[in-house]
Amino acid sequence: MGKIACQVNTTETRWAGFLVDADAEAALPFFPKATKAKKHDDREIVAEAWEEGRTIVTSNADDFLRFISIFQNPPNNNDCRDLWGLLVIPNTQLDREKGLPSLRLGLKVPKIGLLRWPAAGFLNLYVRLTAEGQIQIQRFKRCSFCEHPERGLTIKAPWNKWYRSLPKRGAS
Ligand SMILES: [Zn+2]
Repeated sequence: MGKIACQVNTTETRWAGFLVDADAEAALPFFPKATKAKKHDDREIVAEAWEEGRTIVTSNADDFLRFISIFQNPPNNNDCRDLWGLLVIPNTQLDREKGLPSLRLGLKVPKIGLLRWPAAGFLNLYVRLTAEGQIQIQRFKRCSFCEHPERGLTIKAPWNKWYRSLPKRGAS
């Protein structure tokens, strides 16, 4: 498969890597493009990830899901505030070591292939590695600009169909 066929959308080249929350620092060596968050407050890490075009890595799913929802869905928003996804990893080292190596380059999607991280980031996915080493994938609800049927985001085949089939994580 060539470079273009692997891409979901050309904008994915803007993806800058992972932004790792303090509680998930052990994930840093597992990824080629990962950096520690400069901010400490979860709310500010969400903004940092958006500004830098990075995927947040944390073990603290609940707080981040809440702050991401608030950030992405401001009242009367007139601009796209969609993030570059969230990766939640287990908080015990043993569980992390079981699952993280398989996530190094991207997400293995059955029957399609490897969805590389720039593409996964572009799709703004909520990816959760469970303590049992399973990978659960949802998609965050996108803003009305991105969702626009004609002017919105285009997602290349075969990823489009797969993306639409994912459970959607709404504003609440
Ligand atoms: Zn958007």
